[in-house]
Order: sequence, then structure tokens, then C-alpha cells
Amino acid sequence: MLTLRDIDTGKMVVVKAVHGRSSFRQRISEMGFIKGREVFVMKNAPFRDPIEYRIMGYNISLRRSEAALIEVMTRQDAADFEDRYNGTLIFDKKEKKKNQQQTEIKVAFVGNPNSGKTSIFNCLTGKHEHVGNYSGVTVDAKKAKIKYNNYLIHITDLPGTYSLSPNSPDELFVRDHLLKEHPDVVINVVDSTNLERNLYLTTQLIDMDVPVILALNMQDELEKQGDKLDTQQFSKITGIPTVWTIGTKKKGSDQLLKKAIEVVENTDPHQRHIHINYGTELEQSINNVQKAIWQAKNYIREFSSRYFALRLLENDEHTKENISYLDNCPDVLLVAEHERLRLEKLLHERPQTLITDARYGFIRGALHETLKRSAHKKERNITEKIDRFLTGKYTGFPFFLLSLWIMFQATFKLGQYPADWIDTGVVWLAGTVGKLIQPGPVHDLIVDGIFGGVGGVLVFLPNIVILFFFISLMEDTGYMSRVAFIMDKLMHLIGLHGKSFIPLIMGFGCNVPAIMATRTLENRSDRLLTILIIPFMSCSARLPVYILIAGAIFPQTAGTVIFGLYLSGIVVSIITAIFLKKTIFRAKEAPFVMELPPYRIPTMKSTIRHMWSKAKEYLKKMGGIILWASIIVWFLSYFPRTNETIDQHNKQLVQIEKQIENESTTINKTVIDSLETLQWQINHQLAEEQQHNSYLGRLGRFVEPAIRPIGFDWKIGVSLLSGIIAKEIVVSTLGVLYSGNDDQSLREAIQQQTYSKGKLSGQKIYSKPTSLAFLVFVLIYVPCIAVIAAIRKETGKWKWALFNITYATTLAWIIAFIVSKIAPFFV
Ligand code: GDP
Ligand code: MG
Repeated sequence: MLTLRDIDTGKMVVVKAVHGRSSFRQRISEMGFIKGREVFVMKNAPFRDPIEYRIMGYNISLRRSEAALIEVMTRQDAADFEDRYNGTLIFDKKEKKKNQQQTEIKVAFVGNPNSGKTSIFNCLTGKHEHVGNYSGVTVDAKKAKIKYNNYLIHITDLPGTYSLSPNSPDELFVRDHLLKEHPDVVINVVDSTNLERNLYLTTQLIDMDVPVILALNMQDELEKQGDKLDTQQFSKITGIPTVWTIGTKKKGSDQLLKKAIEVVENTDPHQRHIHINYGTELEQSINNVQKAIWQAKNYIREFSSRYFALRLLENDEHTKENISYLDNCPDVLLVAEHERLRLEKLLHERPQTLITDARYGFIRGALHETLKRSAHKKERNITEKIDRFLTGKYTGFPFFLLSLWIMFQATFKLGQYPADWIDTGVVWLAGTVGKLIQPGPVHDLIVDGIFGGVGGVLVFLPNIVILFFFISLMEDTGYMSRVAFIMDKLMHLIGLHGKSFIPLIMGFGCNVPAIMATRTLENRSDRLLTILIIPFMSCSARLPVYILIAGAIFPQTAGTVIFGLYLSGIVVSIITAIFLKKTIFRAKEAPFVMELPPYRIPTMKSTIRHMWSKAKEYLKKMGGIILWASIIVWFLSYFPRTNETIDQHNKQLVQIEKQIENESTTINKTVIDSLETLQWQINHQLAEEQQHNSYLGRLGRFVEPAIRPIGFDWKIGVSLLSGIIAKEIVVSTLGVLYSGNDDQSLREAIQQQTYSKGKLSGQKIYSKPTSLAFLVFVLIYVPCIAVIAAIRKETGKWKWALFNITYATTLAWIIAFIVSKIAPFFV
């Protein structure tokens, strides 16, 4: 056979046929390698990969191993076919009809023992192979040829197997047949009364990336049980076409052949290759092993690297043999070993178990959506019982809301105690240290700048740790996947999947890893859309602001207010998604299975490690960006220190000081008292004026007109500006700005702030409506720099980052404005 690999540089040949696995053939033909097409060899250096070709005006490079699967003929030979050859696909179709050779299909039957393979095989072939209710002992395949609609179909009945993990000679035999014989279609016969177990094999076929048709056998039995399977939906989400069969009555065998031909001809609407999602960690490992495989110069794309990667992670000896032909095989094995150890250390479970669990999770998810069990039948195990409750029509959603509410209540109420201790500690320490240092700029920098700023944020460490405790609990128990499940219907309304909800919930922790977690979404437009709405999921850095403001202004109902904020974030993201879906992302989504992994009781160790690592991150942020921001904010709020009014106040103070001294000789208490009150007042005015006159004050006054309509003063404006660096800095900035009084906590300061000028003079700045508007603004406006960078990185475009900044800020302003106007009627 003359193949493309053998053609020298500078020669032109004509494609005759493409060999190999059907998905490979499809990919290659999409590149333009269709029978009758002319290919020019641009560069073919012996032993050098890849080879460059020119076809249909495009340059394409192929690996040698791939080129070896493309059969070609010389132009001279092609010219001999001239009467039939006109260089288009039409030639292809004519050829198919004339040449029986071209219309042969290889079909393989696989399935669990006793699923009815042989019965169907006999129906199709008219043979009388032994049908028996026991597992076969002979490792053998029965073969037959039949003609159907111009096709010659080779059918192979393979031994029954429960899986393709080589636990037995049967399983190895089936696997080798699939890998070496490349059947065009695999007919997976399943006992439809026992789908959970039967579909396990199917998941492995999916991983192998072979075209599968599911023969849902024993339809009669299923009907007797009263169960119902929605095959349309099933095919839609799994990408596998289905056919109902009754092996004993010949029912469905004709449709099976029809489907097989449809799949080969690529006309089945559902047939597509999907990836079973094995979870973040496993997917990362799979990807790393795949990358190693791709490094091989002689890797043939016709074998699924994902399948091999999975198998190597399962430590499968035969796969090691299968890939021994790769020129970098030792490297690949090393990577796989490394990943296996990594997974085991991280998740405390053998990768085999993790993979098996994920497969059953996939099956459970697929069936949960499609299989209706008859009412009298009870769930088979605890997992299903729990699922019935947690994902139930009437129970699932309320439970989810309840658990969110509990989460935020606990975050606020439980966290309050340790937070108060830290608060007291910080105030005490600031006071003590303050006494040791002489009054002056250094004193102020340390007490107001550093203790005020960093201390103000440090207080919230316990709250953050508790929040992460709940999030890690949700992830580790498997509840997160159920949440995705119950959210699916709602998410469909906004054109997304329940699966997108997991990154969204992770966004409650921190938006940055949540944006990275969208990598598990295969559909690019889904992914972009999810990335763009994640910033509205209120991250834990925003929590300190909520706790501070809600705790100060709504002491009784702070937990509920915070819960409401989180919900509002969800609502905003939903509205945004609908808006974007209607305008930019109109592409239709591809349906897929949502896995329902088994429930696990999380280990104390992993939960504590999770919390500790978050605490560490938080403390690092304190010592880094928040410390620097506090110092800068302090500096900007401290200087410059003179102007006319300030000098005047200072003079007044000196005078009063003198007067008090004079009066003290006469010991006239009332006079001294009134002088001291005056002194306090002027001091207060002085501090106000100094802040007002500072660089920060000028900046604040510059932005103030923009936020005035919402009721924000310049200090809030400045804190919002600095919050762009990181949301905690909103708090640290307020901490610096309100730090005049050493033994007053930030919360008390917030409660007591009043307007000093204008028509609102004397009124509280943090009224309930303004506070709510402030909270809503913090929730919605520009995410922090890290998130913007993550959006830019994951979408690959500045466009989306800029979009997010403008959209979020505009929206924040509008909603905060509305809240400030409506809230007075309610609070
Ligand atoms: P194999 O092990 O997968 O080859 O399964 P067989 O074809 O040997 O069938 C196993 C048993 O299931 C036999 O007793 C068949 O008669 C029975 N069987 C096969 N298909 C059906 C079906 O659709 N309905 C019912 N009720 N029984 C079936
Ligand atoms: Mg059999």
C-alpha cells in the first residue's frame, strides 16, 4: 500500500483512502484529505516529524504515523480513473456504490454477560449460537457477515465483560479487539433493567472514544417493572444513540443496523464524542499525562490519548505495553507515576477508586435525569435515598437555600466571638504601642496607618475561615454536585448548565480560582459567559465589608442581610447571563451529563488543611498588599498637613491651652469644662479639615459628585477606589480614615460618623439606606485586580476584562442608587 508517508518532497499525489479509527478518519477528512483530492508534499525529511503538505490551498502538517494511514495513488494512476474521477466528493459516493470493498462496516457487540448479546447476534445473523444464562468460559468471538442496504456488515459477538479493566482474559480480549480491529461501530448491549451496572462498561467505551450505539435490551422486562427511560434525553446528554431491543423476540435488530449505518455515515443527530468529567484534580492529571504522550514523535492521533492517560493513572499494566511503541515511553510512565502519587497524597484514595467513583457519578447523573422508576420501587442504596431528598423537586431547592442561610449565619454569628477577641486585642495593642512612641508622624503611621488598616481587616480572619469550612464541606461531601443538579433547570433558563454553577459557588470563596475552574466546561461560549458572571458571586474578600457595615448598622439582622447580599449577587449574575445570552452569546449549548459522585464524609484532616491554607493566604495578604495599601492610604490621608484653616485651628488650640492653664489657678470648674469642650470641638474640626485637605481628601472630593446621588461621602468614595486593589482594602481604608480615636473600634466609629457640613449636617452618614446601597455597591462594582487579570488570562482578551470593569461599575451605580431611594420605605 502506497501511503502519504512514502512520498518525497515536491511530489503531487492523489488521496485514495483514509484508514484507521473512524474519528481519526473524520478529523482527517475535515482537513481536506478526501478521496480524489490532490496533495502536494512540501517537506518530507526522512525520520523527521512532522511532514508538511499543501492541500486545497492550505498548508497542513501531519505526523509520519498519521501520514502512514492515508493511502494515496500517483496522478498517473488517478488519471486512469479519469472517467470516474472529477476530484470531488461526488466521486466518493459513486465509488461507494460500485465498489463493495468501500462499503464494508465492522460492528462489534460488547456488553455484560447475560445482557443478551448473543440473542441479538442470532436475530441479526440467523445463526444459532449458543444462548445461555451463564458466563462464557471460552474466550472467543463469533463472527458473521450480513448484507444490508448496500453495506456488507461484519459482525463480531465478543465475550461478555463487566468492564474493560483486564481482570480476566475475557476483558483483555475485548479490549484488544477494540484497540486493534478498530470496529466502525460498537454496539453496547445493556440489560435495561440494570442500567447502573451495565453502563459502567459504556463509560469506558466513551473514554476509548469509539463510536457506540446502546442497545437497550430486555425492553419487555423493563416495561414489566414499570420503569421508564427517556432515551431522547439520554442520547442528547451522553452523545450515544439508543435502540430498544428484545433479544428473544427479534425486536429492534433492524433498527440496530440502521443506526449503525447512520453512525458510520455520520447522520445520527445525537452521536458525538463526550468527555466524562473526572473532577478538577483528576482532569489535571489526565491532561499532564496526555501532554507527555503528545511529546512522542511517533504518537498516532488515531488512539485516544485521554483513554491511555486514564488507564495509566489506573496503573494498568497492559496499557503500559500498548504504549511501549512511543519513543518517549519511559517519560510518559514517569509522568503517570508522578501524577498517581500526587493524587493519592492529595485525595487519600487510590486513583483507580477515584476514577471508578467518577464513572458511577456520571452514570447516576445521567440516569437521574432520564430514568423514572415506578413508584412502588424503592431506591437501591443510601446514596440514592439521600439524592432523592437533596435533589428532589420540592425538597432540593429549599434545602439548598437553607444550607446557604445557615452557612452565612454561622459565618457571621460564630465568627463574631473570636472576631471580637481579635478586635479587642488589636485596639489594646495599638493603644499600648501608641503610648511607647512619641507623638508625631511615626506614631500616627503605626497606630492609625498600620494598626488601623491591617488590624481592621485582620479581625475578619475567623469569619473567612468559617466560610471556607462550609465551602470545603460542600465540595468534599459531594453536595456541590447536587447543587449543580438542582440548579440545572434554573441555569437552563439563562442558557447555562448546572455545571457552570460549581465555579459560581466556588466564587463565594475567591473569584480567581473559580474563573480557573471554568476550564472544566467544554463549550467555549458557556465558559466565557460563566467567567463573566463569576465576579458577581460575592467573594470572601467582600465579606469583611459586609460584616463591618451590616454588623454596625444592622446588628440584629446582620446574618440575614449578608445572606441577602449573596443572593443578590446570584440574581445579578443571572440577569447578566440572560442579557449576554440574548446579545453576544447566542450559540446553542451542548447538553451533557452532570455527575453525581458518591457521598463522602470529609476527613477532619483535609477540612482543617483546607481552612488552614485559606487562613495562611489571608494572613499573607495582610502582610503584603493590605499592609502596603494601608500605608499608602495613610500617607495620602495624612499629608499635606497645613493650610489656612488648619493653621487657624492650631492657633486657637494653643490659646485655649493657655486659658485652661490660667483658669486652673482659680479652679473655676464650669469655665474649665466649657473650655475643654471647645478644645475637643476644635480638635475634631481640625482632624476633619486635615483629612479633607489631604491628598486623599482631594481625590475623594474629586469623585464625590459622582457618588453623591447615592448618598456616599468622599470617604466612602475613597474606600471604594482603593478597594479595586483588593476588596478588604475597603475596610482597611475606612480603618485608616476613622482612626482618630484610639480606644474606639472601627465598628463604633462607623456607627457614629455624621455629616459635618451641608444640609445633612449632624445626620448619620451610615443611615440604613446608605449602608445598604454601600453594601450593594461593594457587591457589584469592579472586582479586584487579581480577578481582572484572571479574566484577561482565561479569555485571552483584554476586551472581556474591560467589558467587566465598565459593565460592573455602571450596574453597581444604578442598583445602589435605586436601593438608596427605595430602601427608606422598608428599613
Ligand atoms: P449474552 O450473555 O449477553 O450473550 O446473553 P444471551 O444472549 O446469552 O442471553 C442471556 C439470557 O437472557 C438468555 O436466557 C436469553 O433468552 C435472555 N434474553 C435475551 N434478550 C432478552 C430480552 O430482550 N428479554 C428477555 N426477557 N430475555 C432476554
Ligand atoms: Mg453470549
